[in-house]
Amino acid sequence: MSYSHILLAVDLTEESDQVATRAVELARSNGAQLTLVHVIEPLSFAYGGDVPMDLSAIQDQLDEHAQNRLNSFADKLDASVEKLYVVSGHTETEIHRIAKQDGIDLIVVGSHGRHGLSLLLGSTANGVLHGASCDVLAVRVHKPESED
Ligand code: AMP
Repeated sequence: MSYSHILLAVDLTEESDQVATRAVELARSNGAQLTLVHVIEPLSFAYGGDVPMDLSAIQDQLDEHAQNRLNSFADKLDASVEKLYVVSGHTETEIHRIAKQDGIDLIVVGSHGRHGLSLLLGSTANGVLHGASCDVLAVRVHKPESED
């Protein structure tokens, strides 16, 4: 089976390069389109109504900063990128929404070897896998200093 449109989800940490390398390889070997998504969880999710000030100006700055970072990230990839999305919301929900909307047939995310509590609490990769309507590839990411 070959894929025609791959969605690469990036959190824009230093580990994103490892995940992107796999997605680019797969896009190339399958002759697939490649779309990127970065999700920003709104400040209001964290602070709700607890902060007695208007967060919208700060949120706009964060959104613009993320857009610039995703553009630079995409420019460095050794592949042409179909679409770039910076969206606001719950990470797994937004990844699923864009996958459906754009007819994605493979979602690529990073995954850490987790132990203990963080294993119980789950991860973005788990959340994306559950409820996805297409294949999901979890690329194991390694921190240089870790033994994962
Ligand atoms: P985590 O489990 O949160 O450490 O994230 C693992 C992987 O989930 C990352 O390598 C990305 O592929 C994806 N991911 C996490 N957060 C985001 C985000 N805000 N936007 C897009 N993808 C994300």
